Amino acid sequence: DIRNAGDEQTREPDIEQKLRPLSFLDFKGQYKVVENLQIFVKAALMRGDALDHVLLHGPPGLGKTTLSNIISHELGVGFKLTSGPVLDKPGDLAGILTSLEPNDVLFIDEIHRLSPIVEEYLYSAMEDFRIDIVIDKGPGAKSIQIELNPFTLIGATTRSGLLTSPLRARFGINCHLEYYDVDVLKGIISRSARILDVPILEEASAEISRRSRGTPRIANSLLRRVRDFALVKGNGEIDMAITKFSLEALDIDQHGLDQMDHKILLTIMDKFGGGPVGLSTIATAIGEDSGTIEEVYEPFLIKEGFIKRTPRGRMVTPLAYQHFGRENGASQSS
Ligand code: ATP
Repeated sequence: DIRNAGDEQTREPDIEQKLRPLSFLDFKGQYKVVENLQIFVKAALMRGDALDHVLLHGPPGLGKTTLSNIISHELGVGFKLTSGPVLDKPGDLAGILTSLEPNDVLFIDEIHRLSPIVEEYLYSAMEDFRIDIVIDKGPGAKSIQIELNPFTLIGATTRSGLLTSPLRARFGINCHLEYYDVDVLKGIISRSARILDVPILEEASAEISRRSRGTPRIANSLLRRVRDFALVKGNGEIDMAITKFSLEALDIDQHGLDQMDHKILLTIMDKFGGGPVGLSTIATAIGEDSGTIEEVYEPFLIKEGFIKRTPRGRMVTPLAYQHFGRENGASQSS
């Protein structure tokens, strides 16, 4: 799946690194968020303080990690990266926190997956830059307080609804990342093509951007795959013909929907009469994890108007029927 680009990142780490913008200037789109962050970064620099803690939320692949990297770059401080599920015990977190230099950025991905004990431990670190460490065991055990260097925690999550309110309240800056529009994605693809040194025609980058689900990570990933097709099946240049050929081979339709999106929509239409149907029922029917459907697939389908959320479950819209060349829901759904 082109969307599980985590694998993509490990397979092509150098390319991933090369494509990652390093300054606010290179980071395209998300104008409102970037404009505000620039002010807060500048103010922190003027005061000589650590930037307030930042919460970044939004669907995967929209640039949360990239933006966090940029923030640390612009602040001129160090960057440490970890993630909620990796921080198993308070000791893991303590180790990282005590290693931070003044005003460093600590990035915690998937912060909604912190264990409750680790999360609670984070509170005093975020608030007072202080943690308690228990030394020794048994009756001799005592707790000592350690002062930390001031730091900025940047938490990233695809599920801000799952954050506890005490944790949420400790972030002074709260940013929601939106899906990118086609023009911005086109700019990102052109920039990436330049960096990768692949010739690409304007109309081809427009086509790829239309099929990238509003997501830079998918745009970059599709560009790399089309580049492969252009090399093997064409003359290396990415034109419209090779783009269409590649996207078809990758099962990405006109709208950027892939096989899993099709499966979700068709299941609701054909098995559940167009809905409403509960998320977990859909998940069982297609054999996919309901969290993944909710975080990764559904937000785009909702944004593009293929699915509606109702109090009684998910429903497909007339647009979904049109997409599959069907006249209306009723006649197809029984
Ligand atoms: P996740 O939350 O799943 O970790 P993410 O939102 O952190 O994803 P990133 O890893 O930061 O996403 O970005 C994915 C890719 O998209 C990176 O390769 C980055 O180069 C590119 N990218 C993201 N946002 C932009 C942007 N605004 N301009 C240019 N490239 C971008």
